[in-house]
Amino acid sequence: MRLFDPIRVGPLELDNRIVMGSMHTGLESGGEAEFQRLAGYFQARAKGGAGLMVTGGFSPNSEGNLGAHAAELNEAALSRHRIVTDAVRAAGGKIFVQILHAGRYSKHKDLVAPSAVRAPINKFEPREMSEADILRTIDDFGHAAELAIQAGYHGVEIMGSEGYLLTQFLCQRTNRREDEWGGTFDNRARLAREVVARARKAIGDAGAIAFRISALDLVEGGSTAEEISACAAMVEAAGADMLTTGIGWHEARVPTIAQAVPPAAFTFATARLRKAVSIPVAASNRINTAELAEDVLAKGEADMVMLARPFLADAAFAAKARDGRGSEINVCIACNQACLDRIFSGKTTGCLVNPAVTREAELAPKPAKHARQIAVIGGGVAGLAAAATAAERGHAVTLFEAADKLGGQFNLAARIPGKAIFTRTISQMAGRIEQAGGTIRLSTRPTPTEIGANFEAAILATGVTPRTPDIEGIDHPSVARYDEILSGARTAGQRVAIIGAGGIGFDVALFLTEQNSRAHEDPAAFRSYWGIDAAITDAGGLAEPVEPRTQHQVTLLKRSDGRFGRSLGLTTGWVHQIELKRAGVEMLADVTYQRIDEVGLHVESEGESRLIEADTIILCAGQVSVLDLAEPLAASEIEVQVIGGAKLAGELDAERAIEDGTLAGLTV
Ligand code: NAP
Ligand code: SF4
Repeated sequence: MRLFDPIRVGPLELDNRIVMGSMHTGLESGGEAEFQRLAGYFQARAKGGAGLMVTGGFSPNSEGNLGAHAAELNEAALSRHRIVTDAVRAAGGKIFVQILHAGRYSKHKDLVAPSAVRAPINKFEPREMSEADILRTIDDFGHAAELAIQAGYHGVEIMGSEGYLLTQFLCQRTNRREDEWGGTFDNRARLAREVVARARKAIGDAGAIAFRISALDLVEGGSTAEEISACAAMVEAAGADMLTTGIGWHEARVPTIAQAVPPAAFTFATARLRKAVSIPVAASNRINTAELAEDVLAKGEADMVMLARPFLADAAFAAKARDGRGSEINVCIACNQACLDRIFSGKTTGCLVNPAVTREAELAPKPAKHARQIAVIGGGVAGLAAAATAAERGHAVTLFEAADKLGGQFNLAARIPGKAIFTRTISQMAGRIEQAGGTIRLSTRPTPTEIGANFEAAILATGVTPRTPDIEGIDHPSVARYDEILSGARTAGQRVAIIGAGGIGFDVALFLTEQNSRAHEDPAAFRSYWGIDAAITDAGGLAEPVEPRTQHQVTLLKRSDGRFGRSLGLTTGWVHQIELKRAGVEMLADVTYQRIDEVGLHVESEGESRLIEADTIILCAGQVSVLDLAEPLAASEIEVQVIGGAKLAGELDAERAIEDGTLAGLTV
């Protein structure tokens, strides 16, 4: 595999071309205990074969701090950083620290930027940097690079993408200066050049320098293709040893890493950049499997691949790819739910499909003291996680699933545009069970007596069933449950009313309106849907989006008042909102359901009766736990744990289900 051809990056020889990209964990601003956790996290990924890893961002000075997770690279922090680098070096890994000055994205009052132009995603207005501020900042970058080497890092990644300070200088959108740091492109690129040159001077050949360049800005007033290539050549000349890439500013209104983005959708930008330089270029964004990563290199679109979230999902991504065990990789499903949504809420990162991330020591599986016969009832993700974890600890596990396939609610979710990859999570967990000697029995409903007689412990993961709300006419033939629609058991008519606007109501609306769109899987269709100009002729690379054609006329309803989509993810909800708006989905809040009949759904809205004419009314009104076995099993002699949706259906999500299952498997 090309992924495992060694590659030289400045003074370093890397074993392979898989880079674990920078990702804030929320631990960077902590003390020794948090750095111990970081050390465990990075060490696991070094052991897991990553060719190179990059830490979350550390600011070269206090103004550049992100705010919510203020993390600086200064003398006081050196001993903490050494905890990380010692752990990585002991595992034979290589690690860079990212130096990130947030500029106008800093979430504190002392923020600075090339010009006093507030970011649309920040309430604080920046102060325009003086010439002295700029010169001091260049020194600070150089000093941070020097400290990085003293701390034991193999190099630094200078953050020049995603709309942070260096990008802000590069683009007219944010740089309105008239001195030698603004105006012409050469002037706007001066700071990036000077920062790289100063870092090089500071560290000589004691470490490598990566420059993370914005390969595509996706904001008006961003860079053109020509400027991006020119910037790449300039930073190479200034001393950068490799280019890592970022796509889109944080304020861009085009998704860049969400499920709406097809796999490897942005490698066209890296491919062009590669022609501008002779140093290695790493591609990023939505590269989540070993096959895809290899394909990017095979097509010559990049010299290396940089994956961030996939390394949260599976510490051993690289080793599994190397050993031909790509199907065993626990694939990142791009939900952002447990990682970025948490980080942007000021919490520590987790991972929906891997509860052990940043808790490697705490959740390390220990072999069972006494191997026991364990029954896991229910093959949704909670049951799968429990069965896999328990089997790997040496228990004799039998997983029972009533349906003829595994996955439960996750299987239904896989039908939603952008979520097809969910089936990989199911097959990966099933593979773990089989590899650990467990047994999977499909289409089987064991009785409490059978379980009591043949097992020493039972884990009940019988999940949930859709709630049927109490509305007059609910038995009308036009009424369907979401699982019937998503599984294909029923098809929806042209006019649809959806009762319930939680995650599933939104998903079903998307399923209906985007059924024939290929925007979630085909990069060209994605670009035309979101308005991306692959040639980046206009600054920022934006183009006129092509309006989607939808088959269904959908009305989404909820009883509560207030904004729709409040329960959706912080970093992904806006994408769904835009998608449904463009599909013409009508949203009605604060309604009272009155009745359903042959003409449709009658509701009371704003004090008046209203008819929503509908051929199909889909119930997305939450779920209730399935607990048939709980009572009879409680009366038996065996140990019983109830997990996942069976334990708590309200606000059930896959993250809690997998965590519950994993914890049950670790403790049974
Ligand atoms: P949910 O988010 O709890 O939403 C259920 C909806 O049903 C609510 O909007 C509620 O709205 C309505 N409802 C509840 N009881 C009702 C009743 N008796 N009659 C009429 N309407 C009723 O649950 P979900 O949509 O089923 O999702 C299940 C879980 O999966 C959630 O945790 C969700 O976050 C997660 N999920 C997440 C995503 C994602 O993209 N992150 C996608 C799918 C699912 P009103 O009370 O306002 O009417
Ligand atoms: Fe990927 Fe979701 Fe895990 Fe984040 S939480 S790493 S997006 S699977």
